[in-house]
Amino acid sequence: MKKYKYLLFDLDNTLLDFTRSSESSFKQMIGHYSNLDKETLFKEYYIINKACWSAAERGELALSEIKTLRFQRFNALFEIDADPNKMNTHYFDYLRESVFYVNDALDVLKQLRAKQVGMSIITNGLKEVQDRRIDLSGIKDYFDAIIISDAIGVKKPDTAFFDYTLKQIPSFNKEDLLVIGDTAGSDILGAYNANIPSCWFNPNQKEWSSNKFKPTHTISQLPELLELI
Ligand SMILES: [Mg+2]
Repeated sequence: MKKYKYLLFDLDNTLLDFTRSSESSFKQMIGHYSNLDKETLFKEYYIINKACWSAAERGELALSEIKTLRFQRFNALFEIDADPNKMNTHYFDYLRESVFYVNDALDVLKQLRAKQVGMSIITNGLKEVQDRRIDLSGIKDYFDAIIISDAIGVKKPDTAFFDYTLKQIPSFNKEDLLVIGDTAGSDILGAYNANIPSCWFNPNQKEWSSNKFKPTHTISQLPELLELI
């Protein structure tokens, strides 16, 4: 089995449980604007938000437009009369303070560091949110570099994102690097485009969906990573 020397970690839903943070932050925020059942509201928000991010991944929407548009659409659906920008800011106020780890994430990072494996974070996300969550999570010191798409103006799967990343980390042959992430269309496709081996983190044991590219490895729990280094 190939042994990798340097790991490039996706953040959300790979190391930190963003799904859980997002749900808890949304529900706290929306209580200020609506008396409807929070579960119902969140289900609709989830669908709208996902559609916005998919449109951005297809290049139909700028990342900066998502923040407002998702709440515009949401408010139209539930006839909420509030400023979507203000709601987004309010949501971020909660989100910034919300950190849940993916199972075993901290322990695996500790073990990787003990084995002196180099690591960086590569995340598609908003700088103001990610910086704070990484600070709060206490995992910052494990990483040489933290690359946030919003801060550099390009995102995974663009090769420009990976070109930038390679300049920020110690020099290695690409075959000694490993990208680890949960999202096929950004993490795994990005690694494939950049000629870097990849590991798909697939905790829910979903079917692989593309026949154009595939991950080099697939794991369903983070400790399996230890066998790859
Ligand atoms: Mg992710």
